[in-house]
Amino acid sequence: MQACSRTNGIVAAGLCECDAHPPDQLLDVLQYSPALVADAAPRRRGDLYPETGRFHVASVVHHALSMSIRPHNTASQFPRASARTGLAPLPASFTEPYVPIQALERLGVPLVETDYLTVGGGFGSFAWADHLRIFGARPEQIVALSPAPVPYTRFKRLCQHSQMPPHERLRSNSDACPDNIWGWPGYAVRECWAALRRGDLRNATRVLWQVFGEPTFAETYTPRASAVYAAIDREAARIGWSQMWRCGRAQAIRKTADGRYVVACSRPDQPAGPIDQLIVAQHLHVAVGYPSVRVLPDVRAYQARGGDRRRVVNAYDAHDHIYAQLLQHGGVVVVRGRGIVTSRIIQRLDEVRRQNSAVRILHLLQTPIESGHRYGRVQRRTAHHWEFQVFNWPKACWGGELRARLAQASEHERDQLLAVWGGTTTAERADWVELIDRGTREGWYQIRFGEIQRLELQSDRTLLIGMRDWGAPPGLTSFCADAIIDCTGLESSVDRQSLLREMLMHYQLQRNSRGGVPIDDSFAVVGMANGSGRMYTSGVMTLGGAFAPVDSFLGLQYAALCSVEALVAQQAPALRPLTGLRSLRQWLAWARGAPP
Ligand SMILES: Cc1cc2nc3c(=O)[nH]c(=O)nc-3n(C[C@H](O)[C@H](O)[C@H](O)COP(=O)(O)OP(=O)(O)OC[C@H]3O[C@@H](n4cnc5c(N)ncnc54)[C@H](O)[C@@H]3O)c2cc1C
Repeated sequence: MQACSRTNGIVAAGLCECDAHPPDQLLDVLQYSPALVADAAPRRRGDLYPETGRFHVASVVHHALSMSIRPHNTASQFPRASARTGLAPLPASFTEPYVPIQALERLGVPLVETDYLTVGGGFGSFAWADHLRIFGARPEQIVALSPAPVPYTRFKRLCQHSQMPPHERLRSNSDACPDNIWGWPGYAVRECWAALRRGDLRNATRVLWQVFGEPTFAETYTPRASAVYAAIDREAARIGWSQMWRCGRAQAIRKTADGRYVVACSRPDQPAGPIDQLIVAQHLHVAVGYPSVRVLPDVRAYQARGGDRRRVVNAYDAHDHIYAQLLQHGGVVVVRGRGIVTSRIIQRLDEVRRQNSAVRILHLLQTPIESGHRYGRVQRRTAHHWEFQVFNWPKACWGGELRARLAQASEHERDQLLAVWGGTTTAERADWVELIDRGTREGWYQIRFGEIQRLELQSDRTLLIGMRDWGAPPGLTSFCADAIIDCTGLESSVDRQSLLREMLMHYQLQRNSRGGVPIDDSFAVVGMANGSGRMYTSGVMTLGGAFAPVDSFLGLQYAALCSVEALVAQQAPALRPLTGLRSLRQWLAWARGAPP
């Protein structure tokens, strides 16, 4: 355990919330801590991380052959103290807009050069590297910088915490396949085929009925999380992801004086630690996902007063102890939010309630919903103040007319369209709808509208909640509960993402209408072109641009496709157009599991 001097948060438990120690990011490290913390340096080819038993780490041989590692001087030239509070001290040359390569060489840390660098190593990075490989780049031309060797590490952890274990179904379509850039065969075909091979005709027919009947006659097909993980493992092995992966955390991005980019990195367990490697790349891609879980002001205040964190939790943090406690003793749980995670948490609570009927759910909402959002002649359905939509955006946002509509819209219009199409919705799953109907009828599920004003832990370890109630009659009320599960989501503001915020400030870049990173049609960051070098980004940090579903499997693949096609047009190293026959040959290689 280690304490943060800024907030007294406990860093090793992932509990500190200062900018330097966003809890979510720390957990990436902790998951792999025995290997990574002890030794972030490349190992011999063939070494395995015992935690996954799956990925071979990039080897010394690989790095020596494929990327030139410059020898480094012994004298470090880093300033002793940093003006960037809570972040790693940066070299003096990083105050310049263009850093000379010679200045980097004098810094006294290993310097790696590569053609393509992707920072993040999650789904966004994986999609980019997958496209680069299929378009012609070799593994040794690509570096994927991330604290975790497995691309779905953070995704899986967030899913598991929010009660979506591998056997549960996700919220994306059959053809949203992060492992397959062609989208065929999609997950439905694969599931159907696997069922047929097992002789499970019932499941095979059900899947077929879903894909042909959705959304009018059947619920939309969505894949199991485990199917996505297994498919990513297969594709990662095929494209040589383990050779590209390099352990580290990016601290700063700068343009170099010779038309490239340099990324200063620290060890992943030291978010504010010293820079221990520099990576210089001709083309850069950044997909760092959500900065952290969201902590609402009332919870923050409660935690600052030393409140019990085990009773007031975010749905994306580990909180299985709450279900265990309820199973044993029953109790009242306050649930906040009304997205898909809320649906799943309530379903999980119902599973517990079936074993202990003394479990009650109080669903605390800020506002009632009488009718769903309307766009043209289409209106979303609602029930019990929940609003339904199959995916988090209307399907036409991915490739249909809504994608074109948003691309043509002005900045102001975009903001309005995003508000109407997006927002907080859940899927209209029959079992979830039945659950809420039944809970309301039987009285163990109740909705209240209001705002928490006071949150205190009483001597009997229950929570005293003072609330401004919007209901009838409105006024101040207070009640006791045994736990609060906050399902209001993850932080998505660039201001909470230190790497990108620092870069935007350093280069004085404009934000998009929603405060996100400004990108053009190829997902290149506006204002970050450097000679022939290009910087791309994808994921939630780009929300507010010309494409709505940026934070989705298919959205990340679309971003990767746009940027790699732009690189092809620019004749970037080793990339060739993926036209007709070449695409077919590549697909056949994918089908056989052969390297691109
Ligand atoms: C619970 C959940 C369920 C979802 N379900 C679906 C679904 O069913 N279908 C769908 O299409 N989409 C879904 N999404 C949306 C989307 O697909 C995911 O958010 C996806 O993980 C986004 O990929 P990403 O690469 O942007 O971020 P991530 O996958 O989170 O990867 C970001 C990576 O960046 C690393 N990182 C952060 N900072 C740094 C740094 N400074 N230096 C180096 N590395 C850094 C992190 O450690 C992490 O490994 C879901 C999202 C969540 C949260």
